[in-house]
Amino acid sequence: MTDRSKPILCLDFDGVLHSYTSGWVHATFIPDPPVPGAFDFMYQCLEHFNQQIYSSRSHQEGGIVAMQIWMEYWARKELDNTEPLYRANAIINQIAWNKDAWPLKKPSAFVTIDDRAITFLGEWPTIETLKAFKPWNKK
Ligand SMILES: [Mg+2]
Repeated sequence: MTDRSKPILCLDFDGVLHSYTSGWVHATFIPDPPVPGAFDFMYQCLEHFNQQIYSSRSHQEGGIVAMQIWMEYWARKELDNTEPLYRANAIINQIAWNKDAWPLKKPSAFVTIDDRAITFLGEWPTIETLKAFKPWNKK
């Protein structure tokens, strides 16, 4: 199902797809709705990227299946599923229940979207910059 000719877009889960407003509870407990636009974005990316979700939940027991169930549930709520595009089904089939989309190790991605990272531009950040880091939804 996965088109391996497309570049890998690695997506973090908590704080990127999952709004994560409740904070960490358990690897298998995912209480919050998606970040607005997450499902539209993933749908648009289907044509261009091999999307892989890699999270600190990925290697914990039940973590991947919990993310898969969350994704199917929210795909149906967030996306139109009528002819001819069947957008929800596209996400459910090509990402949620596609095992290639849920690696157990960090993939060699073309690019990664993560809410807790700094783009390295060849210059080292200061300790103060690192210590002052805040993800987008905590600013
Ligand atoms: Mg995150």
